[in-house]
This record gives sequence, structure tokens and C-alpha cells, in this order.
Amino acid sequence: MTSSTRDQKATSAIAIIGAGAAGLMAAIHAATGSRPVLLLEGSRRPGQKILISGGGRCNVLPAHATAADFISDSSPHLVRKILTAWPLDAVRRFFEADLGVPFKLEAETGKLFPVSDRARTVLDALLAAAAARGVRLQTAARVTALTREGELWRVRLANDAVISAGRVILATGGLSVPATGSDGVGLCLAQALGHTLTPTYPALVPLTAAHAGHRALAGLSLPVTMWTERIASPVAASGQPDERPRHRQPTDVQTRGGFLFTHRGYSGPAVLNISHVATRALQAGTARPAIFVQWTDLDAAAWEKLLCANRRPLLPLLRDFLPERLAAQLLVEAGLSVVDAAHLRREERRRLVQLLTRYPLPYTGHEGYRTAEVTGGGIPLHEVVPATLESRLAPGLHLCGEMLDAFGPIGGYNFLWAWVTGSIAGRACRT
Ligand SMILES: Cc1cc2nc3c(=O)[nH]c(=O)nc-3n(C[C@H](O)[C@H](O)[C@H](O)COP(=O)(O)OP(=O)(O)OC[C@H]3O[C@@H](n4cnc5c(N)ncnc54)[C@H](O)[C@@H]3O)c2cc1C
Repeated sequence: MTSSTRDQKATSAIAIIGAGAAGLMAAIHAATGSRPVLLLEGSRRPGQKILISGGGRCNVLPAHATAADFISDSSPHLVRKILTAWPLDAVRRFFEADLGVPFKLEAETGKLFPVSDRARTVLDALLAAAAARGVRLQTAARVTALTREGELWRVRLANDAVISAGRVILATGGLSVPATGSDGVGLCLAQALGHTLTPTYPALVPLTAAHAGHRALAGLSLPVTMWTERIASPVAASGQPDERPRHRQPTDVQTRGGFLFTHRGYSGPAVLNISHVATRALQAGTARPAIFVQWTDLDAAAWEKLLCANRRPLLPLLRDFLPERLAAQLLVEAGLSVVDAAHLRREERRRLVQLLTRYPLPYTGHEGYRTAEVTGGGIPLHEVVPATLESRLAPGLHLCGEMLDAFGPIGGYNFLWAWVTGSIAGRACRT
């Protein structure tokens, strides 16, 4: 399926740039029409992010999703319009019935995985479906320039080969985990054609910290509730206050889920889902938003009552609700390691309850695009036609996947976005 001829002419061909989740889905849907479809992948192997996703198991979809689950600076109406073009149930049926990839539900998280528990099953099914429909995949075909000449697109590769196409689908992903092939070149190609960019930022990324007591807890995980509190107004990458109307503030996020202490800081779904608030603020140079943790299901009033009613030593008491090592750490931080509940002074009890229910996470930064699961920001949704994802600035060019300004939480939402937007772009090109 590979070739590298100098000047390939296929005037009415559809050229899809990027064979990740969105590009593969676009190719499958584009190829059910009459035009030849050429899928250009910059790296040697397609779908590398699919293979590393979900810890190698690929969380293909969430069991439920709404537009409100997604973060975007664009209008929520546009996010909704795009997502409803291929409803979640239909996407699921496509994988299970058409591609032959049955799913199983992980009940406690609402995530759908292939029954095989292998991401390879998902990628192989997508590649087989594309090949069966006649898609020509060309690997090691890195696109460096995209220009319009009359009715045709000229797609230039790194080896100087030029491919002509009637329509082009840009599916090059964002900036996250560049080792998988997505390094943001596609965003530059779109900008060169007149598109703007909502400043990009790492999202779903571990936070870093330099807290010796916490480093000693590395490997410990527990379910928590986390939230941010920030009042500062959003600031654009230019450093100037961003005066554009915001449809959904990326501030004051609340998440619930797993929290993991690591050697470098904090990770786990709850941390990843809230991390964009920190990365955006740090990138913009605004005040670092405070992130608070409630370590157990008990709120401040419940802890007050419990501590007042108890005469037990504090460590065994806290151990009933928290992992012992974390309970001990919180007591050290409260300066109460050797105190009994019975002897707590009011101020000491208040301090302990605060640490248990409103713990200010001492993060210092984040791990950046190297480990971020997605890229926030990207091409604003109002610059594409929602029904076709055709560029409003460069007709004949369609944009899909992570390069568009929307991302979802951990749980299969980001692949849902890639499958839906890829299919919209692919279908729109086949006529
Ligand atoms: C570690 C990790 C785990 C994840 N797990 C999950 C999960 O379980 N569930 C979930 O929903 N999401 C998950 N995600 C997010 C998900 O992988 C992405 O949202 C999704 O892959 C985006 O699809 P895409 O096709 O837009 O971009 P990508 O998958 O990044 O694909 C872009 C493709 O374009 C190619 N390309 C880039 N530039 C060029 C160029 N100039 N010329 C030619 N080709 C080019 C790249 O090589 C790449 O193959 C995970 C992400 C990571 C990093």
C-alpha cells in the first residue's frame, strides 16, 4: 500500500493527512464514494496513539456523552451540533456490527473497551476496513506544505513529492505526545491558509510538585473530589486580557475520581480532568489557580461531628476512612501526630478538618505535551461548517479530530470526538 512517486496526479482524489483515529475514520467514510482516497501518514506506522491508548487497551468510547462534557472556547451549540451528527449509539454500532469489534463496559467508570482488551484489535479493524474500501495508505509521507492551485490542492511531502487532490482532509492531531507523530505541523498548515488558533495548551496531563512528604506516598491512590477556585479573568497568549465572550469558563471545575501520588507529583483521572485549568493559567502567566482536594466522602460538618464524638487516637480513627500512609501524612502536616481525638483543641480540630476536606494541592507545574493525553485549544469551531467540517476560509479543505478546539475528559470522549469528526469530514468529501 505504499509508494513515493514524484508527482502523483489524481485530480479528483481525496487526500487525507494523518492516519490517526480521525484520519482513519475519515478515510473509511470517504472511500464509500467513487473518488480514490489517499491516506498520508507522516510516521512509519499509522494509529500509534490508538495503540498506546487506555494503557494499551484503548478506551474506544464512553457509555454516555453529552456536549456539556467537552471543553471548548467555541460555542457549546457548535460542539453539540457536531456530536449529534453521528450519535454515540450509532458510533458504537459501527464498531461492533460493521468493524466487528465487540465492546465490554467497565461499569465503575462507564468506559467501553474492546472485549479483547487490546488496542491492536481496534487499529487492525480500522486498517482492514480502510483497505477493504480501497483506501491507499502511504506511510513515511510527511506533509510539509498545502497550497491551492485553481481547483486543486497541492500537497507537498518532506521528500518534495507533490500530490494533487480535489479535496483534502487535515487530521494531523494536536501537540500531545509528539513521539507518536503529532507535533502540531497540521495546525501551522491550517494557519498558513488563513485559520486562527485558540491558543493551545496541554490537557489531561499529570501535575508536578516538589513536596517531599507527598513524594514518599508515590504509588498510593484513592478516590477523591477535587475542585478549582480562581477568580482571575482569562488572559490570551499575548498576555493581554482576553475580551472575547466566553461560552464556558474553564475555571471552577469540579471532578471526582481516582487520585494518584507519583514520584513527580499527582496523576489519576481526577487530576488529569482538572489539569487544564492549571496549564492554561500557567501558560498565560496568570495567578496559579488553587486546586483543593476532599480526601473522603465526609464533608467538614461530618468530620467535625466525628472528631467531637470520638476519644480514639487520631491515626486509627482516620485510617477507617483513608489509606494509613496518607492519614499519617495529613496528621504530620496538621502538627497532630501524637494527639488523641479526645484532646483536640477547637483550633486543632478546625485545622485537621480543613486538611481533610479542603486540602490545597501544592502543585508547581505540569508535565507538558510530553505526557498530556490531549491538546486543548486549536482551530475554532466557527471556522468550519459543522455539517461538513469544511473550512470557511479554504473551501475544499476539511478539518477533524484533536486539531479542532474541543476535548473531553478521561473516559473515551476524545476518541468519540475523533470518530465523529472524522466521519463527518469523510462523508462530506465523497460526493
Ligand atoms: C497516552 C494516551 C492515552 C490515550 N487514551 C485514550 C483513551 O483511552 N480514550 C480516548 O478517548 N482518548 C485517549 N487518548 C486521546 C486520543 O488518543 C486522541 O484524542 C486521539 O488520538 C486524537 O485523534 P487524531 O486522529 O485527531 O490525532 P492523532 O491520533 O494524534 O493522529 C494524528 C496523525 O497525524 C499524523 N501526522 C501529524 N502531522 C503530520 C504531517 N505533517 N503529515 C502526515 N501525517 C501527519 C501523526 O503521525 C498521527 O498519526 C489518549 C492519548 C494519549 C496520548
